[in-house]
This record gives sequence, structure tokens and C-alpha cells, in this order.
Amino acid sequence: MKCPYCGAPDTRVVDSRLAGEGEQVRRRRECAACGDRFTTFEGAELNLPRVVKRDGGREPFNEGKLRAGMMHALEKRPVPTDRVEAALTRIKHKAMSQGERELPAQRIGEWVMEELQGLDQVAYIRFASVYLSFADVQAFREVVERLEKDPQGNKD
Ligand SMILES: [Zn+2]
Repeated sequence: MKCPYCGAPDTRVVDSRLAGEGEQVRRRRECAACGDRFTTFEGAELNLPRVVKRDGGREPFNEGKLRAGMMHALEKRPVPTDRVEAALTRIKHKAMSQGERELPAQRIGEWVMEELQGLDQVAYIRFASVYLSFADVQAFREVVERLEKDPQGNKD
């Protein structure tokens, strides 16, 4: 790495240790030319993408909102909280692993539907009815048909 002081091309690492909660590596580097030292931080880039809404507006990925939406669909359903949390973790992981800065809200909605389909059929229908708004009867019919064909979702 280039020296930020004199621009010399060679610097060497003199110390390396974990920083923060262990999600970063802090390195002290020394310039071979001018002898000055500087610090770098290295970490995985796993930022959650921003969400592009249907109207084109952007908003930060909001885990709380996602959880609230799923919990609402799952209200009074016999689904353990840890299964919901595991589903949320999978959705977040998918969002991060896309490596994109922005993600259409629609895609997240589809992931939620996939997860709910595996968790609870009633919750799946509830979420789908809100999410798809069932603007037309055909959309509703498609969801029900999908359930009939593949009640447990296509995972596992
Ligand atoms: Zn230097």
C-alpha cells in the first residue's frame, strides 16, 4: 500500500490486530521511504442495501419494519419466534450477499413470501393479501394455486 505522506509505493505492516467486536482488522503500517506510520482498517463490506420502493423512493433497509410485517402476518399463529428470527436472518443474509447498493422492495417481499410459505400457510395468505393488495382476483387465485401445488414451499 502506498504511503499517504510521501507517496512511496512500499509500506510494511508492523502490527496487526482485531478491532471493534472482531469484525475488523486494524493494521499499523510503516513507510520504507519516510519512516512515517499510519493505520488501516480492513473489514468485510456487508452493508445492507438501500431499498427502492415501488414509487421509486429510497429508504434504508429496515429490519424492524420487516420483522413487524412478518409478525403481523403470523399473529396468533403457532410459529415459534426463533423460527421467525431464523427466517429474518436468511432474508438479511440474502440482501447482503447480493452485493448491490440498492434492492427493489419487491424482491424483499418475495423473499418474505417464500419464508412465510414454509412457516405457516395462513400467515402466507395474510401477507400476500396485503403485499400484493390483490388488486385483481387473478393474483389471489395464483397465490392459492401455488399453495395447493406446493404447500410447504419449495425448500428443504
Ligand atoms: Zn512515506
